Amino acid sequence: MSKAIDTTLAPQYFQKFPVHIHKDEPVVKEGSSAAVKMFERLVPEKDTRSHAVGPYGDAYAICYPEGDTEKTKLAGEIIEALWMYDDIIEALPHDEAALEHATVKQMLAGNKDGKAPGRKTLMTSIFRDARDRMMALDPKGSPWMIGVLRQYLTEYDGNDNTYNDIEEYATFRTLNVGFRIMSGFMQWTTDIYLNEEETQITKDFYMASGRVMALTNDYWSWEMEKRESIDRSAGIRNAIPVLMKQFSLNEKDAKIFAKGLTVDAEEYMWKLGLDLKKTGSETIKKYVDAMILLMGGSGFWSATCPRYNTAQK
Ligand SMILES: [Mg+2]
Repeated sequence: MSKAIDTTLAPQYFQKFPVHIHKDEPVVKEGSSAAVKMFERLVPEKDTRSHAVGPYGDAYAICYPEGDTEKTKLAGEIIEALWMYDDIIEALPHDEAALEHATVKQMLAGNKDGKAPGRKTLMTSIFRDARDRMMALDPKGSPWMIGVLRQYLTEYDGNDNTYNDIEEYATFRTLNVGFRIMSGFMQWTTDIYLNEEETQITKDFYMASGRVMALTNDYWSWEMEKRESIDRSAGIRNAIPVLMKQFSLNEKDAKIFAKGLTVDAEEYMWKLGLDLKKTGSETIKKYVDAMILLMGGSGFWSATCPRYNTAQK
């Protein structure tokens, strides 16, 4: 059983999702720490600012508080590596990024001796063993999760579209914020697998959850992202500049607007979740509860983590 975190001690956390932490947080934390160390070794010149460190504990222990300990630890290691890899790949020209993705996908498919096109592919060695390690922990559920990972890499935001409309942007962003990965590992760590019918029934809830995560991430990561120069014509992927442009708002007002949209998105998602809990199967009920804990963990970590909340270079 996980422990509840008293969120009233962090007044900036404006959401109302409950937040829990894994009973084995020190063990879970080893996963994300291992990924950070690996990146520091492979690409010492890059900034390896953690996506997991926070004053209340490891992000993955907070996002997956009810997960199996070993699986949650491995999930943390893989996701942390993926996000650090994203940081690096974002700065690459589109062609090179596509090549990198193709290599990683091949590795996840089980082809371990894919040719290494260039030095940057060193980074992808991180994913070399991910597949086998996942299979060793869970031969039944892992093929599904590996499929989710491969789909993420296929659909990865490679376009340079500019969005002028917040609804259009949010629709794109919902599936492009890493939500598939985060919710997929939520299911993998807790053994919650939906059948086809259950997947259909929960589809709106799934999309609504993705919207919450997208807006929450944009709200909290904006201060960091606006300081960073990102080498892409479309600029920073964030709702704040879209809102500023669409409604001619200054930055401060656009942030408040984004906060309001996040609260609205949360209310809608929660309502759908409660409806599902009234009528859904036992699996659906567990799925809704775990998703709510994931939203709480993701939002609370974002609201308190040094990555987003301290002035950095
Ligand atoms: Mg962001």
